[in-house]
Amino acid sequence: MIIAALQKTTLIDYPGKIACMIFTQGCNYDCFYCHNRTLIKKRCVKPMDFLYVHRFLKDRSALLEGIVVSGGEPTIHTDLPDFLESMKALGYCVKLDTNGSNPAMLARLLDDRIVDYVALDVKAPWEKYAEICSPAADCRLVSESLRILTHSTVAWEARTTLCPTLTQEDLKAIGSYIPPSVVWRKNKYRMPLVYKKEDSVRIHQDSLM
Ligand code: SF4
Repeated sequence: MIIAALQKTTLIDYPGKIACMIFTQGCNYDCFYCHNRTLIKKRCVKPMDFLYVHRFLKDRSALLEGIVVSGGEPTIHTDLPDFLESMKALGYCVKLDTNGSNPAMLARLLDDRIVDYVALDVKAPWEKYAEICSPAADCRLVSESLRILTHSTVAWEARTTLCPTLTQEDLKAIGSYIPPSVVWRKNKYRMPLVYKKEDSVRIHQDSLM
């Protein structure tokens, strides 16, 4: 697993817990409004020393309650389960932020009980997934992740960024995928500072919020 950054404390990213955040390098999507463009590439210019991260988390285990693993997309790393298992062994609650592209890994993490909370991005109505998240984004995998979480007992939430090009109709469609009992966070669109030239027009378009 390649760790690109560590945020030592967060009070807002793990509901009800004082946590730290780990950002993994690499993402299999390329959302046009991505705020973490430096994390998309698989190669990290300056990865964090794994032993340093582990030592830090071990030392802080009495002060922090949880760890949020975010990215990039954490599930592209085949050794993610081992890492999360080691975090559980230190006594942490583990939250996973995922774009939902790896339902097989998600199912394994749930079966092994090494995640306590999942935030699943549902970024667009299915027919707009490729347009918003890049042609590599297969909405069938996200739909399968949604199905897995819906049938699991883990605490989870769905998240949607209200990016330009999403319409009220799109939002209605996304809402129809998410069970009414599940928290659905609609994140305000913030214009990224770095974006691809060809996305300039839609980056500057008005969003729903
Ligand atoms: S899934 Fe997240 S990290 Fe990946 S490109 Fe989209 S917004 Fe960026």
